[in-house]
Amino acid sequence: MEKLQANVMKDTGKEVSEASNKEIFYALTSIVNEEIVPAWVATQKKYKEKNSKQMYYLSMEFLIGSLLKSNLLNCGLLPLADLALQKLGRNPEMIYAQEHDAGLGNGGLGRLAACFLDSLASLQYAGHGYGIRYRYGLFEQRIIHGNQVELPDYWLKDPYPWEHRKENEAVHVQFHGKVHMLQRTDGSLEFKYENTDKVMAVPYDIPIIGYENNVVNTLRLWSAEAYFEENDGIEGNHKYFHELDHQHSIEQISGFLYPDDSSYEGKELRLKQQYFLVSSTIQHVIKNFKKDFQLPLSRLAEKVVIQINDTHPSLAIPEMMRILMDEERFSWEDAWKVTTKVFAYTNHTTMSEALEKWPKSMINYLLPRIYMIIDEINERFCQGIWFDYPELRDKIPEMAIIAYEQVHMARLAIVGSFSVNGVARIHTEILKKQEMKNFYTIFPDRFNNKTNGITHRRWLLQANPKLATLISEVIGTQWIKRPKQLISLLKYTKDRGLLEKFDQVKLENKKALANFIFDRTGITVDEQSIFDVQIKRLHEYKRQLLNIFHIIYLYNELKENPSIDMTPRIFIFGAKAAPSYHLAKEVIKLINTVASIVNYDPAIQGKLKVIFLENYNVSLAEKIIPAADVSEQISTASKEASGTGNMKLMMNGALTIGTLDGANIEIHDLVGDSNIFIFGLTADEVLNYYQNGGYLARDIYHTDDRVRKILDQLNKGAFGLHDMEFKDIYYNILYHNDPYFVLKDFEPYIETHELVEQAYRDRFTWLNMSLNNIAYSGKFSSDQTVQEYANDIWKIKRL
Ligand SMILES: *Cc1c(COP(=O)(O)O)cnc(C)c1O
Repeated sequence: MEKLQANVMKDTGKEVSEASNKEIFYALTSIVNEEIVPAWVATQKKYKEKNSKQMYYLSMEFLIGSLLKSNLLNCGLLPLADLALQKLGRNPEMIYAQEHDAGLGNGGLGRLAACFLDSLASLQYAGHGYGIRYRYGLFEQRIIHGNQVELPDYWLKDPYPWEHRKENEAVHVQFHGKVHMLQRTDGSLEFKYENTDKVMAVPYDIPIIGYENNVVNTLRLWSAEAYFEENDGIEGNHKYFHELDHQHSIEQISGFLYPDDSSYEGKELRLKQQYFLVSSTIQHVIKNFKKDFQLPLSRLAEKVVIQINDTHPSLAIPEMMRILMDEERFSWEDAWKVTTKVFAYTNHTTMSEALEKWPKSMINYLLPRIYMIIDEINERFCQGIWFDYPELRDKIPEMAIIAYEQVHMARLAIVGSFSVNGVARIHTEILKKQEMKNFYTIFPDRFNNKTNGITHRRWLLQANPKLATLISEVIGTQWIKRPKQLISLLKYTKDRGLLEKFDQVKLENKKALANFIFDRTGITVDEQSIFDVQIKRLHEYKRQLLNIFHIIYLYNELKENPSIDMTPRIFIFGAKAAPSYHLAKEVIKLINTVASIVNYDPAIQGKLKVIFLENYNVSLAEKIIPAADVSEQISTASKEASGTGNMKLMMNGALTIGTLDGANIEIHDLVGDSNIFIFGLTADEVLNYYQNGGYLARDIYHTDDRVRKILDQLNKGAFGLHDMEFKDIYYNILYHNDPYFVLKDFEPYIETHELVEQAYRDRFTWLNMSLNNIAYSGKFSSDQTVQEYANDIWKIKRL
């Protein structure tokens, strides 16, 4: 506390009592920084002494959220900080809330990268993240008259206390220009680039702190800055404006994060961002290798492994080839041998709108040398199929990296990597059997599964301290370092006295969320209600629409018979839609419109409330998840690669209502039928409908009165200001034949929700189920996931 007081005085010249929350926040961050900087240096030194193999995690997104609280937690200073702040008359949460979330990701993919960094450091692995320091993160969402409105997220408005600019480690990245091919005297080819546009990549390093182990790893984010060559031949005033213009267009490269989740936009600037990330990182990787290890580059793979998070960084493969050949004078064959031993690729989706393809003309224009290399990789790969796999000859057009004027990034990533992994068991099976089956025939050993995970430190210890404390009272604290030991909770699932304590914790968390909801929306919710939560990006495949249809159905039932005996339910949503995703935005409008009717209808006596919390992000997730009773994981089977929200909610004692999709299947396998609510089509059934037809949404519209009523209400303005307000949803279901099977799964969903409601009435059965979920959730700690990557793919050892 004295230190905090002294820091406030030093920084602001004020007594603590005079200081603002923000000033105290900064004083606290500088204490943490003092603590970690020596450990940061020491960690790098230890890795060097031990000759540790380095794992580089390349990702266009790192959704790290806010760091003060998790840094304090991992340094073991959180209780002390809480106490000091309280003694100074401050509410610790108000101080922690001063930090603006680093929203450098869209959703699950970026959050996964953040959880992995936490686990890598906590398990003492030499693993570091590489990404882009976007000046604007994912947009801030406001809901105005029920509609999503996007505001820019200028998260750097206040100085960001965790980043360290390392200007002396800047590198140059080159775009455009011409490539000249020359023959050296020894007959080998030399490639020279002319008239390229050079951009400076300046690293900003963020320390990633391991849990109570003095390990500090690095998340390095590259920022694009202008680089002026002395003699560019432009003079005077003209030069000044030219430079400003030039500077602006360069800074745009790290200007903002593209807000598309699980889909891509073929914009040139996005391609520039991707190459900017991979070129700066690969240059750095090679420099580090030369500096740290006295080994020839041909042995790179012994000391370096690079994981690429989805295809977005897959240009790293041709970039590695370029540097090895053009700068290090490797032959093609030698360069390829090294490259394909270094890269491992994680696939995150099989949905066609998300599979990246770039026009070959765009790559050729922006990155001419890289294009030549991709072309050569493609030629050799296709020839290989032709000669070695004659039975696959007619499949070449669907396997070629360059086909029909497009470069297929997933194919490039598979061909250039030694490992290809899916992110949940079913997802990996679908990759092997369907989407990538021809590649699986050629490279069966490359394919492997690594089910996603979440850091239990942030999502349980930090977000839900009351639950964490209670767990430690019951089974001791070993679970914190070995989350699988949560399984010991199984011994207590019948202990009524204890279950009541768990109930009490949940109730307190629900009260806290109810207060938060009241502050944000002015709506009162009763903490005795069922808190039913669906928080995730808004996507058709995630089927928020099915959820809101069920709510409309309940509302219709209550209107017909207000005396129905029903446990009051609060349906809580959080979801951002990509700004250009029209249908997703219409669903947001529908949820808010239904909310505005249901929440103010006295006839239903508060039995139903609908809350849409705006600007869903990591900090909001940390508030909602500890208070959830029911976790909605209702994607169309086969579509959700894994999901991680499902794991966070399970770990906090929520019961899942879900389809057999992604990691829901693995949750189901662990907890068993009696501790989860499964419904709906299976992935096989869905894939079968897609392949063979046989589903007619209109049939359900005509035969199910409940469904017809809802759709007619949408069409006739019952929930809108005017008729046809939600016409695009209506048309999508009836005229585009309900591509995500909302109507098909409607009846089983309603029936399963009835089971949920009945189960909730039996307090001890419910609490028993809830505790079962917490007990089995240790399996989904990202410590487990990272351990598996480390053993099977990365081949790295703990410090
Ligand atoms: C965990 C998380 C996600 C991923 O949620 P899913 O339900 O798996 O889609 C998205 N956004 C945030 C902020 C998260 O914390």
